Amino acid sequence: MTFEQLYGAPPDVRASAPGRVNLIGEHTDYNGGYVLPTTIPQRTVVELRPRHGGAVRVFSADIGQPPIGYIAGAEVRHGRWIDYVEGITWALTRDGFAVGGADIRIESAVPLGSGLSSSAALEIALLRALREAFALPIDDVQMARLGQRAENEFVGAPVGLMDQMACTLAGDGEALFLDTRSLEWSVVPMPASVELVVVTSGVAHHHAKGDYRTRRAECEEAARRLGVAQLRDLGAGDLDRAMRLPEPLGRRARHVVTEDDRVLAAVAALRAGDAAELGRLFYASHESMRDDYEVSIPEIDLLVELARSVPDVYGARLTGGGFGGAVVMLARPGRGREVAHAIAADYAARTGQRPTVLIPQSAVGGRP
Ligand code: ADP
Ligand code: MG
Repeated sequence: MTFEQLYGAPPDVRASAPGRVNLIGEHTDYNGGYVLPTTIPQRTVVELRPRHGGAVRVFSADIGQPPIGYIAGAEVRHGRWIDYVEGITWALTRDGFAVGGADIRIESAVPLGSGLSSSAALEIALLRALREAFALPIDDVQMARLGQRAENEFVGAPVGLMDQMACTLAGDGEALFLDTRSLEWSVVPMPASVELVVVTSGVAHHHAKGDYRTRRAECEEAARRLGVAQLRDLGAGDLDRAMRLPEPLGRRARHVVTEDDRVLAAVAALRAGDAAELGRLFYASHESMRDDYEVSIPEIDLLVELARSVPDVYGARLTGGGFGGAVVMLARPGRGREVAHAIAADYAARTGQRPTVLIPQSAVGGRP
């Protein structure tokens, strides 16, 4: 249903925000290190029309239920998708920004819950629409923080700031180089010499929560024994010392230290348009996550090995927290679609899993 069919009048405001995928810099965020996400072509669109009074009505084309109503300033957590919307008006109200009633329609081409950050895309698209409709004096970094606060404190998901920062600050075909400790950032254009590919493994993140907690605790323990506040504070010269820690603390630290260096090297390679070097860094990052950090699984390793055997792929690695999920690859421009589908078909035949090519976006069936 269109906005007009739902609410009887056209929207006043239309805003959007993209999903994102992390290129490199995995499990570095909670160690105070670097990350390098890039936006993806799929976006979430929010249409909005202010109403008198505080009543808000929200429809999502991706959920397919009648509009849900609530009162701005009197948000209640339900444990459902509407929490992401109520969380935003809740966070704005808490910070003293006056948000009134509105009719809202959401439609997203970012797949929900696939690790491409449909949640941040929704938060930022909605914040952009509200900012315009109610003339709110908020800047892009404030929007990222409001989105994170909505997700942390209202929805109840303990996420970092990377997703929202990538969605607000990086434009089409741009990556965001972010220092998660200082929050210093810069935007780096994706070079024309690579095409982005993302293929899911079809394996859900089993036990990911417990293992994630274990990795965080191991990093804290390694940092404590090495006498630093966070593993971010170590460099290549500290690795000998780190490797003398009891197993597996040394390897955990080695992943974080070398991954931070790989992010810096990847930023330089992006700026130089050096596809071969980016690819080498992707494979090295994957091996480090597989062997030192132990967050990969055999299916993901297979996807990476299949990618390695394709000449038009420069590099591939597990993206996201691990224990399932997706692989991000860099392909020769114009070859992404073909190699992605070939790798997915080969993988499906060998494993019986059902992979999905998320990027490049399917020409048929995908929403605009
Ligand atoms: P990801 O951000 O990786 O897609 P999350 O679990 O963080 O996964 O966020 C997905 C959730 O965000 C969905 O289950 C839903 O509750 C909410 N959401 C995201 N996009 C939309 C949308 N277009 N319409 C309604 N809810 C959405
Ligand atoms: Mg999310």
